[in-house]
Amino acid sequence: MAIRNIVTKEDPILSKPCRTVEVFDEKLAQLIDDMIDTLAKADGVGLAAPQVGVLKRIFVMDVGDGLVEAVNPVILKTSGKQRGVEGCLSCPKQWGYVTRPNRCILRAQDRTGKTFTMDLKELACRCACHETDHLDGELFLRLVDEFVQMEEN
Ligand code: ZN
Repeated sequence: MAIRNIVTKEDPILSKPCRTVEVFDEKLAQLIDDMIDTLAKADGVGLAAPQVGVLKRIFVMDVGDGLVEAVNPVILKTSGKQRGVEGCLSCPKQWGYVTRPNRCILRAQDRTGKTFTMDLKELACRCACHETDHLDGELFLRLVDEFVQMEEN
């Protein structure tokens, strides 16, 4: 178990596109385990690899109904809309309203390279879209239509 440092939005790594993962080895498993530990420690709902300084297409998320590990994720199909307050572990103390699809089909690989699909709704869909954006070098801030003040927990 290892907690990795989460980079913040000033770091140029967050604006770079990530590489496809092609090797599913022990090193990948270790990175994913570290990301899971880092996410839990930070008390977040999602974490993408570039947020820990690794330009690979990987994210982990846990919105309360189980941990999802997504390697080479693709949002295949979206429907509906939701507008809600979003934040990011790389953008401390910044929250704002973002409109996202309300439902999506996520296709990804697990740590062994096995492909799976998930039908995600509401917060899980929001989170998967947010994390996939990170892998394309995009931060949620560009999608915010209204910033909000929130108390720190
Ligand atoms: Zn984020």
